[in-house]
Parts: sequence; C-alpha cells; structure tokens
Amino acid sequence: MKLMRVGEIGQEKPAMLDADGKIRDLSGHVSDIAGAAISPEGLAKLAALDPKTLPELQPGRIGACVAGTGKFICIGLNFSDHAAETGAAVPPEPVIFMKATSAIVGPNDNVLIPRGSEKTDWEVELGVVIGKTAKYVSEADALDYVAGYCVSHDVSERAFQTERAGQWTKGKSCDTFGPIGPWLVTKDEIADPQNLGMWLKVNGETMQNGSSKTMVYGVAFVVSYLSQFMSLHPGDVISTGTPPGVGMGMKPQRFLRAGDVVELGIEGLGTQKQTFQADL
Ligand code: ZN
Repeated sequence: MKLMRVGEIGQEKPAMLDADGKIRDLSGHVSDIAGAAISPEGLAKLAALDPKTLPELQPGRIGACVAGTGKFICIGLNFSDHAAETGAAVPPEPVIFMKATSAIVGPNDNVLIPRGSEKTDWEVELGVVIGKTAKYVSEADALDYVAGYCVSHDVSERAFQTERAGQWTKGKSCDTFGPIGPWLVTKDEIADPQNLGMWLKVNGETMQNGSSKTMVYGVAFVVSYLSQFMSLHPGDVISTGTPPGVGMGMKPQRFLRAGDVVELGIEGLGTQKQTFQADL
C-alpha cells in the first residue's frame, strides 16, 4: 500500500493511493497515518479494504507521509562513497544523530533557507518508518518492526553542522529541513530495501545518482542497532544516510540559494520537489 496524508498543514486526511493513481480517503477507518494504524494489525485492516469503496479525494497538498513521529533519527556517513567525498572514514559502527521532528514537512512544500545560512545542502535518503515498538531486537527480526519506507530529504546546513561547535543536530533540524513522503510504502511492496535506485537533481541537473546497495549498515542492522540504545516507537522515522553527490563534496563546493528547485526520488517510493526560499 501507498499511504499518504492529503490536505493543508495541520488538516491532513489519511489516504491511500489506489492502483489507478486515485487518492482514496481513509478517514472513515483511521484518524491518521500514525500509531496503531501502521502497526502490523492496523496495516492488515487497511489492506483488507477495497480502495474502490473509499471516497475519492482531489489531489492537493501532500503532507508528510506519517504523523506522530516521536523521533527522527539519522545515520551519518552510511555510504562508503559519500564518506569518501566528505573526507571522513567509514565509522566502525553507525554514527547517529537526531533531526528535530519540528523540521518535518510535506514532500513538495517549500524549504526555508535559514537566516545566516550560506551552506544549505541536499541529501536524498531512504526513510524507514517504524510500525511496532522495538527494544533489543535482533537483526534477523528487525524488519518485523518496520511498517514501510519513504523518501526522506535530509536537508543540511553545513556551516551550522560542522563549523559551529558540538555535534550535527543544529545543522539538521532547521524548520522544513525534513521533507518525508509522498507515501509511506508498506514493506510488502519493497522486495529488497538494499537495492533501490536513489537520485537527486538541482534545477534539473543530476547531483546524486546512487543506490541503497552501497549502504554500509543496512536497514535491518540499523533498526536492531538503534533498538539496543532506545525503544523505537510506531511513527518514528530513521533516515539511513545519503549516497555521494552532495554539495559539500563538490569541488568547488555548491550550496542552495533562494529559487533553486530540488527534485529527488527513490525507486518504488515516489518523488519529491521543493523550491528553496529565504526564511525571512
Ligand atoms: Zn543524512
């Protein structure tokens, strides 16, 4: 299933995309794409519905594909070729950092370049949405706790991230720096999360063209790993790292300016498109 949230900010309705590309209203069945609705039992109930019997919604703004996200956890330097372009070594175990959940926006919403920013950068990433509370889970069982996947844009301000002391969170958490969606694609539709093409363009020019194949620590490992340190809850999102081609790694470096348009996508998970604008 491709689950989504459609409507103006704060008024999104839960919905699913049917086989004909029509948006079907789920608000008669669940209050949101969140919590129990994305548990294994909740997803089974939604899967049993006949989409044709659900009211059709007109296309409009698409919201973030999941609500009620308590934690937005990112994995740093998780593609060997991206680590190389940043001059960093592949870490001996996953580097994790947090992105504030207040950064979450819809996949096509405008992204704000924060005040004082000169180094706003892009990162296409595979997002993993948790569907069931995970604590001390094994790698073998880890995918049982995953509801599905989405496109995640880990927008990053490199000066805030690396030149302003401390760790990375302040360069990752600015308002609108977390577009997720358009869909939460349930995991039954993704045969192998470690074999998905990933791409990103700036103003039509391809910047990133990679695959989740070159991820160092794969989805199952990462879910298991994180669950050794903290419980993961339904609606939590893990952004699993970016392939090479970010602006910071270019020579000369290249960063986003007001008016730039970024498009990104992952095989089977849909696409996003954002216009960048100054946060006045
Ligand atoms: Zn990232």
